[in-house]
Amino acid sequence: MPSRPPLTVLLASPRGFCAGVDRAIQIVERAIEKHGAPVYVRHEIVHNRHVVDRLKAMGAVFVEELSECPTDRPVVFSAHGVPKAVPAEARARKMIYLDATCPLVSKVHVEAERHYAAGREILLIGHEGHPEVVGTMGQLPQGAVALIETVADAQAFQPRDPANVAFVTQTTLSVDDTAEIVEALRTRFPAIAAPHKEDICYATTNRQEAVKAIAARAEVLLVIGSANSSNSVRLAEVGRRAGARAYLIDDAGSLDPAWLAGVSTVGVTAGASAPEVLVEGLIDRLGQAFAVTVEEIDTARETVTFKLPRALAG
Ligand code: SF4
Repeated sequence: MPSRPPLTVLLASPRGFCAGVDRAIQIVERAIEKHGAPVYVRHEIVHNRHVVDRLKAMGAVFVEELSECPTDRPVVFSAHGVPKAVPAEARARKMIYLDATCPLVSKVHVEAERHYAAGREILLIGHEGHPEVVGTMGQLPQGAVALIETVADAQAFQPRDPANVAFVTQTTLSVDDTAEIVEALRTRFPAIAAPHKEDICYATTNRQEAVKAIAARAEVLLVIGSANSSNSVRLAEVGRRAGARAYLIDDAGSLDPAWLAGVSTVGVTAGASAPEVLVEGLIDRLGQAFAVTVEEIDTARETVTFKLPRALAG
């Protein structure tokens, strides 16, 4: 057998599951334990195909709308949050529902409501159509929140009163892109009310920082995550900006060996919704073709955990 070429794997840390994803998955698992199958889940609980498939096998049924759920089975709302109309409809239909909205998304909802109560015009920096954006906009009456996706949007926005504007953000954005948008808003509206601390969550921030630390040294960056996972897509973008050829893959099976031809250093990370077992699978696969040396690059320690809803705790 020919000897395998050497490959250094720079493993980003932190990577993979965040506290909000961990909690959301536990909510579905515990709901199935408590109520038996099926338990309905409105929207993918987190944006990862492997997580969704595993929960389906345990008895979760994924739907897009509450109208697809029978009223005699529990329903879980996904980690991305839901418009206020959704729990209201569940209550009207007398359904048992469990809210797996990440507490850091709920915090943004509360901020938006606070600005609204103070009479401010609210800008939400985020990506159109993402369920978190739909959920945050849906906390307030239609028209109360304007979506800003780009610096050009920030420059074009015409407020009713430039002295009475506020902004909130999606939690899983690019830290650098968002900073540019915020700067454009602050230049135009110096009095704009801003979050006390970033709305981009700790997990998104830490994973992007960790990618920056490895991507400058890696020729190729492999990001494990699903294509509809906002924070995973951002990790690949951050890697590209730092100079690596970055690929977003669901798992080791999606790896194209041609990407690694002539490569001696590869970076590996995983989005906040991607299980660690997929990272292990990827490193095993790399080990079949290369003599792999793994170097873990640690840029932050995470200690955040979130409590389960009272109905499932204990
Ligand atoms: Fe919560 Fe951030 Fe994880 Fe989203 S990525 S679930 S906001 S901790």
